Amino acid sequence: MIPLDQHPSGRHFLQIPGPSPVPDRVLRAMSLPTIDHRGPEFAVLGKKVIAGLQQVFQTQHPVAIYPASGTGAWEAALANTLSPGDAVLMFETGQFAALWQKMALRLGLKPEFLSLPGVCAETGLPNGWRRGVDAGLIEQRLRADGGHAIRAVCVVHNETSTGVTSDIASVRRAIDAARHPALLMVDTISGLASADYRHDAWGVDVTISGSQKGLMLPPGISFNALSPKALAASQTAKLPRSFWAWDEIVEMNRGGYWPYTPNTNLLYGLSEALDIILEQGLPAVFARHRRWAEGVRAAVRAWGLPIQCADPAVYSPVLTGVVTPPGVDADALRQLIHRRFDLSLGTGLGKVKGRMFRIGHLGDSNDLTLLATLAGVEMGLKLHGVPVAGSGVQAAMEYFAAHPQNASLKAAA
Ligand SMILES: *Cc1c(COP(=O)(O)O)cnc(C)c1O
Repeated sequence: MIPLDQHPSGRHFLQIPGPSPVPDRVLRAMSLPTIDHRGPEFAVLGKKVIAGLQQVFQTQHPVAIYPASGTGAWEAALANTLSPGDAVLMFETGQFAALWQKMALRLGLKPEFLSLPGVCAETGLPNGWRRGVDAGLIEQRLRADGGHAIRAVCVVHNETSTGVTSDIASVRRAIDAARHPALLMVDTISGLASADYRHDAWGVDVTISGSQKGLMLPPGISFNALSPKALAASQTAKLPRSFWAWDEIVEMNRGGYWPYTPNTNLLYGLSEALDIILEQGLPAVFARHRRWAEGVRAAVRAWGLPIQCADPAVYSPVLTGVVTPPGVDADALRQLIHRRFDLSLGTGLGKVKGRMFRIGHLGDSNDLTLLATLAGVEMGLKLHGVPVAGSGVQAAMEYFAAHPQNASLKAAA
């Protein structure tokens, strides 16, 4: 049991980039009694959540739901479409891309990991961990693969370890320009329902997502959005799979059911979350996250600290990575902030561990929640002895005051 004096009163500030704060409406929906997953009421729920997810993924095609974390849905994407020894082209954008590549190795695939060379002079961080996917490198590699040995291109849309997005449409164009038949698989576990994402329009074959980030649910369910080409590939793919197999799931989903016991109460939550998101409309949801991100970046700039994403064209609307000055242990800073102000920030992962922290701006949040978060960070920076150029809180207040939510909604419409 965590000592209660660490959370004396008020709400904990869960400002990590997933799990994200869950709206009360969703929590209440999840507290309804569990029902018979083979009964008539369930089919209504099952069909409703699948139809709602299709709107959020912006697809006409099937979406499989798994009672698993996002990692399970990663495995499902690979296991349903590929055969042992298949070559896959992956791109190192950060820790999540690296973990997916490690999984491909463990499944007996042959991943080739493209990455940008070099280290950034300003921060000492790997260049590839500050930028998005370079579609030109993918095109070049595919053009050199005349025999079409590469079966899939796998990229992360919103790299949660860095706060950098990637231009998925440009990856599609690169594959088409090389006239290469590889499948395109995209992880948008942390991007979906916060950052614009278009499964069909961008020609993605398998999109992987999860519940606990933009969808504002607790962890525990995850998704594969499919294309007809991915479904066709699954007919001949030889990697072993049973629990993850799309065929039975897609078949039973037509009636609103699953081949095994689905996560009923999380599906109640999903139904409610989809209502919230679709009532607001996707353009409004995306605009809200872009605006929050801009306010948070205004704060980071005012502190005089580097934003981890070095390319303004691909700033993440979901989270912001903040690089600490050389010699400042970002994890010690995070721990101080947690202890003193009951605020959780995301830790640096993999190659950037200790060099940065992450501020999540997703889930059930608003301007004042984010201002309080920034105040916690600013106090922590000062207490930890990190020199700051100016007040980030002041900069974010000015940004939010000068840019009303309604104006950004209108701009999105
Ligand atoms: C969170 C996350 C994952 C891992 O999902 P789990 O639910 O922790 O298994 C994978 N990729 C990205 C981009 C993520 O943000």
